[in-house]
Amino acid sequence: MIDTRFQLDDKRPLRSLVDEALAQAPRKMRFPKALSHSYGAYSAEMRSRKSLPAAAICLALFNCGLILDYKFASGLIWQFFGIRFFCTTLPILFVIWVSNRFLNHVFRDWSIAASLVWGAVMLNVLVEMRGSTAAHLAFSIGLYLIVINIVFHLRPRVATTLSVGVCLTTVLMTWQRMVKFDDQTILAITFLIAATIITLLANFRHDATMRHLYLLILREQIRTQDMEQANQELSEISYTDALTGVSNRRRFDLEFELACRNAREQYGVLGLLLIDVDHFKRYNDTHGHPAGDACLKEVATRISEQTRREQDIIARIGGEEFAIILRDTSPDGADRVASRIHAAMQAQWPQDLPPVTVSIGLAIMTGPSATSIMQAADTALYEAKERGRNRTITTALAA
Ligand code: GH3
Ligand code: MG
Ligand code: MG
Repeated sequence: MIDTRFQLDDKRPLRSLVDEALAQAPRKMRFPKALSHSYGAYSAEMRSRKSLPAAAICLALFNCGLILDYKFASGLIWQFFGIRFFCTTLPILFVIWVSNRFLNHVFRDWSIAASLVWGAVMLNVLVEMRGSTAAHLAFSIGLYLIVINIVFHLRPRVATTLSVGVCLTTVLMTWQRMVKFDDQTILAITFLIAATIITLLANFRHDATMRHLYLLILREQIRTQDMEQANQELSEISYTDALTGVSNRRRFDLEFELACRNAREQYGVLGLLLIDVDHFKRYNDTHGHPAGDACLKEVATRISEQTRREQDIIARIGGEEFAIILRDTSPDGADRVASRIHAAMQAQWPQDLPPVTVSIGLAIMTGPSATSIMQAADTALYEAKERGRNRTITTALAA
């Protein structure tokens, strides 16, 4: 998973930067700064996962060289062992482990490269101790560079610095050591230079493939994220009342069923308020439909401000009818919500909006009988209307 929360140094969206980079030829890919930093972190993680086991295998092979050492100078076998194991294998493994664990991706490659330069120095020491020819050094370092560039996949800049540095130093040292101009040494130097160039090309190609892969993965990830976001927005829209912004009937039905089930199963207390705007037909006829709409929005806002808990659901369930589901609320608590709603309707209204009152049917039910709460609240609301409106009638039904 690529972290896409990075800062872009570009105004364009990440998606179009990725598409643009993908449209370019792989070798010409130039990422914007933030993208290239993210790629660095991503590719370093891929590389660091493989580097320690790969190094362990290569160094095990390197230690098998003790057999050859024995053949060249059997008297120095313990010194050879010391150089191969204690001076080369352990320090390189240690540096790779520390770099992968504690360093960020920029320093990681450079410190691994430094440990590999140390490996080249040790190789030189071994060749010296064996008393081998100058050609031998060039061949050994050539082989060493093949391993480094193919196995470690250092970033191109690091790999180039390391390989060219080690190659040139070795060529100079080999030239210096060459006793006379012989074919074998020239062949070894040619091998060394060719190995450096070919393995560096392999490294560049690998990096281009990694970049391409990174962009493809990033594009898929962005698409998935966009789709998830669009889905979330759609589902938000499908559960929201377009006029007032509170929940709609669909969400109310779902939440109501859930709340009833919970109350039944857990013997919880469930409060339901049915709120109906009084004489709203007359309001519409007198002030016009647009004013009626504005009034409904105002009513919804005022009702919403009277509930204080996240789990309270406020919905517009009909033209000028609202409902509130109060889970685990005491009868007193539900009564207080109803009183606050009446008080909120009495508070100052905007100048261009004539005020309205509401009637509330409140039903509180406990435990198993929770499903008939809707009917009870409806009857209570009807009674509130009958008794002159602008009031709450409460029905408390025991289990
Ligand atoms: P009561 O006090 O008995 O509830 O009387 P009422 O006039 O409020 O009730 P009635 O059911 O007769 O009328 C409801 C009115 O609400 C009818 C309709 O014009 C209005 N209404 C319903 N939905 C909307 C809406 O979305 N916008 C507007 N402006 N009016 C609406
Ligand atoms: Mg009504
Ligand atoms: Mg009404």
